[in-house]
Amino acid sequence: MPKWAIWALVAVAAALIIGPRLWPTTTATKVTYTEFLELVDNGEVQSVTINNLSNVISGELRDGSSFETTGATALSDADEQLLKEKGVDYDYVTPTGNFFTDLIPLLLPFFLIMGFFLWMQRRAMGQAGNIMSIGRSKAKNYDADKPSTTFADVAGYAGVKQEIKEVVDFLKMPERFKEIGARVPKGILLVGPPGTGKTLFARAVAGEAGVGFLSVTGSDFMEMFVGVGASRVRDLFQQAAKMGRAIIFVDEIDSIGRKRGAGLGGGHDEREQTLNQMLAEMDGFEATEGIVVMAATNRPDILDPALLRPGRFDRQIIVPLPEVEERLAILKVHSAGKRMGNDVDLDTMAKATPGMSGADLANLVNEAALFAVRRGSTHIERIDFENARDRVVLGASRESLILNAEEKRATAYHEGGHAVLATVLPHSDPLHKVTILPRGMALGVTWTLPEERHTYSREYFEDVICKAMGGRVAEMVVFGHLNSGAANDLEQSTNIARRMVREWGMSDKVGPMAFAGQQQVFLGEDLMTSGREYSDETARVIDEEISRILHEQEKRARALLEKHRKGLDLVAQALLDQETIDGALVSRLVQQGLGEPEKVSENSPKL
Ligand code: ADP
Ligand code: MG
Ligand code: ZN
Repeated sequence: MPKWAIWALVAVAAALIIGPRLWPTTTATKVTYTEFLELVDNGEVQSVTINNLSNVISGELRDGSSFETTGATALSDADEQLLKEKGVDYDYVTPTGNFFTDLIPLLLPFFLIMGFFLWMQRRAMGQAGNIMSIGRSKAKNYDADKPSTTFADVAGYAGVKQEIKEVVDFLKMPERFKEIGARVPKGILLVGPPGTGKTLFARAVAGEAGVGFLSVTGSDFMEMFVGVGASRVRDLFQQAAKMGRAIIFVDEIDSIGRKRGAGLGGGHDEREQTLNQMLAEMDGFEATEGIVVMAATNRPDILDPALLRPGRFDRQIIVPLPEVEERLAILKVHSAGKRMGNDVDLDTMAKATPGMSGADLANLVNEAALFAVRRGSTHIERIDFENARDRVVLGASRESLILNAEEKRATAYHEGGHAVLATVLPHSDPLHKVTILPRGMALGVTWTLPEERHTYSREYFEDVICKAMGGRVAEMVVFGHLNSGAANDLEQSTNIARRMVREWGMSDKVGPMAFAGQQQVFLGEDLMTSGREYSDETARVIDEEISRILHEQEKRARALLEKHRKGLDLVAQALLDQETIDGALVSRLVQQGLGEPEKVSENSPKL
């Protein structure tokens, strides 16, 4: 039964019930009861019928026309007498109505119940259908004729593009590779931190090659029922085979590809079956068929080794965080098509955003656009970018947070301590800005710009710890007591000290030994190997070394701040006056505090 039939039935029923009320069929003239009595009195009335239910009195005049009026259920004795006198033919009726209008009120509940049951049945069938099709993959099938993303949409990463170009060539003309007998890797694993454009790359490969793109997320395979994931994998590969040339893209593959038999509580049946099926399917198709499996993860270390062996994901392509030129290119891609003011300098912006991923940069451009709108400007200006960066890096400013004078002074000295040390320490990252405007969770921020670096020296870490101690030490030197505001600084420096000792061999006493960090059992590492594998004696030495490093740096910070006490006062005062000052001013004030001639330090960037 088609759906509209039900609605048609309902409409007909409604018309039959409501219709007669809306369009009365009688053409009788309405008269008042008094007029009716007059008519009777004048002897003009031939006959009347009194409706018992509606009290309508309808009648016919001697001239043939009809009339209608409303009276009481029964005529009063006097009126009845009058009718009799005037020889009017009168009668009481109880209308039975027409057949349909009588039937419908009876049938309606019946229809409703029937409809309800039909609906229930349909739903139940739908659910059963869902269970039946649960194994079918949720893969999105992108039209091969309309590839939208190309390499032009991916800024920078020339190296990655170069590596991946081979796959595009293969997908474009697999025959050529077949003729020569070249084997293209079946599986390509894109490895990199979140937001670096791995998904974007996979799409771009499909777009460049103009082939179908089947994309699933690892967690899509996980269902309530064991075996569903495996059947989805089977389905996915079947679908790809049907399409001829295609890319199968498994995003976040670590959610199914974790080491088997590892982690807490032994294996996870569903995950292992899914993974096994994936391995079997990857072995199952010939490399020349024109199907390439791509996968992305940011945790290659927890993947099952079987996934990574030749014939499966044997090609790993690292997609690292973008370097400065790449950041510039990404900023350009994302600001294309946006109205940019003349004073926007993307070059500077790229330099000032180390450690940001492509997604962060895309977000930054969007935040800048939002700031421009809020300002009521027609263009995105430099100030918007700066606001956006401050917001992204430091968190939203909390103008609503009001500090009392004492807290403000303490914060100024705390941040001043960090800032002075950042300026005077030889290996510290250059100081960019200091502010005592509350941002995010912090009451103030000292912001250094890390240089693009991939390895760091022991001296660098010592300076980082010393600088982190600066806040607390400054408060101690100036006020003679401590505040709770330094918790974060302490946590950060303790972490660095611990890694210096345990992982980087930067303690002479412990020496060249690595004690792996906390293993993440939940992420698929083996429980057995993650226990402590050194003696109590070693544990004591490690603890001592960590504590020694921290104490040494605190002492160093104190000595430096006592030496620069005047500079610290000047910086704190400048912070109380201006709330935000830049690195160049801090270094001028430090010089001034030493009573030396003013000269700009090389350790302050011109941003
Ligand atoms: P991943 O999959 O590595 O976590 P995505 O591919 O989802 O990251 O990237 C997220 C977003 O970041 C993209 O949609 C894009 O807007 C932006 N992005 C990342 N890298 C680049 C890049 N190289 N060029 C242009 N945009 C990029
Ligand atoms: Mg992704
Ligand atoms: Zn601090």
